[in-house]
Amino acid sequence: MSDSTPNTKLFVDMDNAREDDQRQVMQQIIADGQCPFCLDNLRKYHKQQIIKEGQYWILTPNQWPYEFTKLHLLAILKKHAEKLSEIPPEAGKELFELLAWAEKEYQVPGGGMAIRFGDTNYSAGTVNHIHAQFIVPALDHPNFKPVRFKIGKG
Ligand SMILES: [Zn+2]
Repeated sequence: MSDSTPNTKLFVDMDNAREDDQRQVMQQIIADGQCPFCLDNLRKYHKQQIIKEGQYWILTPNQWPYEFTKLHLLAILKKHAEKLSEIPPEAGKELFELLAWAEKEYQVPGGGMAIRFGDTNYSAGTVNHIHAQFIVPALDHPNFKPVRFKIGKG
């Protein structure tokens, strides 16, 4: 991503937002014309603590965790990338190390990890900046329903 990127480029996809306050933050992001997950901007929009920081990733709670999750973390790539082919291969190694750390740290018996990429019509991503999701379902929730991960707008 070069500095000549026009401000009209959309880094977020409002259609894929799930919560009202999330939509409000996204309106601001669109008005500002900045990528909300790029490090310089992250602090402005993301009000969660940074749990761990590596060379390539930042581990932090999802600001808007999916329903029926006990733990929902995001590993956000520190450098802007939208396609898998833009991720340095060494970052894959660090990602696995980071999520394995989380598995141990939070004594997670099981869950899922997922990464959306590219065109948000296809990915159903909200923020078009590579991030991995680490999801642990809240099986003990009285009204528990399985956590579903949407891929593709529809
Ligand atoms: Zn970015």
